Amino acid sequence: MCPGPSEVNPEVFLAMAKPLVSHVDPTFFALLDQLQGQLKTIFQTENICMLLSGTGTSGMEASLINFLEPDDRVLVGVIGHFGDRIRMIAERIGCNVKVVSAPEGKALDPDDVEIAIKGFSPKLFACVHAETSTGVLQPLEDIMNICKKYEVLTLVDTVASLGGVNVPVDSLGIDIVYSGSQKCLGCPPGVAPISFSPRAERILESLTPRNYYLDLRLIRKYWLERVYHHTPPVSLFYACNKGFDLIIEEGLINRFERHRKIGLALQKGLEAMGFKLVADKNVQNPVVTAVYLPAEIEDIKLRKILLEEFGIEIALGIAQLKGKIARFGTMAESARPQNVLYLLSALENILK
Ligand code: PLP
Repeated sequence: MCPGPSEVNPEVFLAMAKPLVSHVDPTFFALLDQLQGQLKTIFQTENICMLLSGTGTSGMEASLINFLEPDDRVLVGVIGHFGDRIRMIAERIGCNVKVVSAPEGKALDPDDVEIAIKGFSPKLFACVHAETSTGVLQPLEDIMNICKKYEVLTLVDTVASLGGVNVPVDSLGIDIVYSGSQKCLGCPPGVAPISFSPRAERILESLTPRNYYLDLRLIRKYWLERVYHHTPPVSLFYACNKGFDLIIEEGLINRFERHRKIGLALQKGLEAMGFKLVADKNVQNPVVTAVYLPAEIEDIKLRKILLEEFGIEIALGIAQLKGKIARFGTMAESARPQNVLYLLSALENILK
């Protein structure tokens, strides 16, 4: 029950056991077409969709290096560790980066974003939808509308939300969006779904990224025109094909509702036990729950007991929250009532 990797359905593992074909085999090309269709459904978009060979961070890096050049103005919404990683990568590219932030446990205030956009005129605004380090789910609608009003390109990290929380890319008007396979998508780590709008594609045409491996123009040429660029992780693509099928079979709305209910049950249970949630109630993410630990509970000891005595894996605080919090994931196959009940009763046993 750590916030990724989540538990993987055995059918997904079985799919990975299929014999390998080459990345230029006609059946593999057919699989690429299927994956694109599945991703369009899951991202709720008509935009181009692909899988990158790499974890969520490869999606983050590709989303920045392919659309930005040194000196470009970039506004980054930072509400935790992963927003800060976006800032860091944009700075490495040599962009002129400005940060808009929010206090711990809170989401970005759209008014702050608007003021920053007015004063800074960025080319791109980037933020994280589900900030895994705090359990905050950033509401996107108002912020995306502000970006639309000022014609700012938008980039959203959905590594910890896609497949568990609604991410309607087209109706929100997100230009560039990426995710990771190992969280709410319920697949093993190693693949990053990515999608970008025609407006973003026009920018893509106008620059050559310094990074060859994550060059989206070349990767797009492979996905659409079958021109070899690199050998993708064939077995992981089989896994995603199965994992995405399971998501579509369950139905996006049913799946979001399952995650919502399970997250709420866990949060209510933790609060009833006296824990304080890190995220404000109105922006609490259903799939990642972070709680402050009272001074008498040592985080590393808690994790060790849960793992060794109860077989439950959890995550602890990172960056500024190191040593202060515990984090629980209720994602994909891990979002089941029995998991919540078992975790709560284990915690009760440890704390009594
Ligand atoms: N963005 C968010 C919101 C994340 O939670 C993570 C990982 O936990 C990442 C990016 C980085 O993904 P990865 O560890 O798969 O590279």
